Amino acid sequence: MKFTDATTEEINAVMEKSWDAFLAYRKLPLQRRWEFMYAMANELDNIATPLVEIASQETNLPKDRLESERKRTVFQLKSYADACKRGDWLDIRIDTAIPDKTPPKPDIRKMMVPLGPVVVFGASNFPFAYSTAGGDTACAFAAGCPVIVKAHPAHAETSEMVANAIFAAAKKTHMPDGIFAHIHGEGFETGKTLVLHPRTKAVGFTGSFAGGKALFDVANQRKEPIPVFSEMGSVNPVFLLPEKLKQSAEQTAKMYAASITASVGQFCTNPGILIGIKGEALDRFLKSLSDEIKNIAPATMLHPGIAKAFVEKRQKALAQNGVHVAAVSSQQPQENQGLPTIATVSADEFLKNVLLHQEVFGPYSILVICENDQQMMEVALHLEGQLTSTIIATENDVQQHEPLIEAIKNICGRFIMNGVPTGVEVCLSMNHGGPYPATTDSRFTSVGADGIKRFVRPISFQNWPDSLLPDELKNDNPLGLWRTVNDSLSREAI
Ligand code: NAP
Repeated sequence: MKFTDATTEEINAVMEKSWDAFLAYRKLPLQRRWEFMYAMANELDNIATPLVEIASQETNLPKDRLESERKRTVFQLKSYADACKRGDWLDIRIDTAIPDKTPPKPDIRKMMVPLGPVVVFGASNFPFAYSTAGGDTACAFAAGCPVIVKAHPAHAETSEMVANAIFAAAKKTHMPDGIFAHIHGEGFETGKTLVLHPRTKAVGFTGSFAGGKALFDVANQRKEPIPVFSEMGSVNPVFLLPEKLKQSAEQTAKMYAASITASVGQFCTNPGILIGIKGEALDRFLKSLSDEIKNIAPATMLHPGIAKAFVEKRQKALAQNGVHVAAVSSQQPQENQGLPTIATVSADEFLKNVLLHQEVFGPYSILVICENDQQMMEVALHLEGQLTSTIIATENDVQQHEPLIEAIKNICGRFIMNGVPTGVEVCLSMNHGGPYPATTDSRFTSVGADGIKRFVRPISFQNWPDSLLPDELKNDNPLGLWRTVNDSLSREAI
């Protein structure tokens, strides 16, 4: 189905309505936000079967994978709604007055308040969890912000169905008109217009580095710059340390063949670079990985644009000095299919060529072969910011490589031991983010309820009478929130 692109006039009208909704929504009790978000989750359950059907037609992703992503999205909405009501993200600090101090200390009380309308761009590889009703939308609603979603053209109909579910939930729970808007528009002008609009107060983006950085730059050129939380591509390096590799070369290879090719390699956490030290254990690892990869069939990618980009980036990487193909699937790819591929390169060549550090979005990974520990350390020091890094290591390996471990810690948002980076658990302790260029702001996560903190700012109230303070800050703590009162965490009344 072809949707009509929004005109500038329509975008202006949407943004004004969104601002009016913000003025009303930010004043609603946390309980009302919770009800709205649970209603959204219920609506997504009500349309589960047709939604997964349309999404699978639009994305080529298997239905069982889409159903589990849909369930994850429902869980996300409910868990962020619960976190919204629990209110930890409000970061309440209260310092009561000390009138006889010199000079007298006033009564000061701080909490978080919402930023305003948030524009959300979702990624093509997660039509539910990182799209229309995904993590950014859920976090913004929990924070008290209206949301304007720019539909991804690769799953526009799925996006439209999810948007209708959000509209239905908003109606059922009597949310202010304009709390949510859904905008179509092919080409980058629509997105740019939304980011530049003066009523837009923050942006949540999930997608490619090129897109995330471009929109970040647009926002910084505004008369009033605004935060842009771009969650972008990553190569998620995996360091194979000697003792563990010797013990488990074959098991590790098997685990990684599956991770590299899961969902045709179309995960932001796909392990794109493997780093090992040359020797018998690494030879065994490469042989097993190659054997596995040969047996994995090519599969259809999300859309022709992604398939074309994969072919081009893969070819470009393979054409670089010193890069060799170690294995490809033994089956020929059909049109728009991604061909599972493992390449190798020496660390010497890798260190000289930054093109090899870049994401090839699809079922591709390169093994960087180091001469020794020192060269592995050099590789770690050369790598850019990442969503994740992984070590395959024994405790002894970790103790023997302390400077390497510190160097890796410095570049990643999530540090995994003896596992794979694919699979992002939705929970409060999750950090899905990382130093630039993995994201444009390494201080925040886009998965887990702490993501709410992206869309709020602090405000202090000084010397306000108790009756005029927001409920969150009142002496008798009517909402039962955890608050830091005179440096001690408490839920008691003051
Ligand atoms: P994409 O091509 O960057 O598209 C994402 C959205 O941004 C689309 O709506 C697109 O607009 C818009 N956009 C892109 N460039 C723009 C520009 N210059 N100006 C205005 N709007 C722009 O990404 P994708 O292909 O959908 O997703 C795959 C990428 O996402 C991979 O690199 C993957 O690693 C990354 N990803 C990251 C995460 C994470 O959490 N870090 C999660 C999932 C995926 P149009 O609507 O016009 O196409």
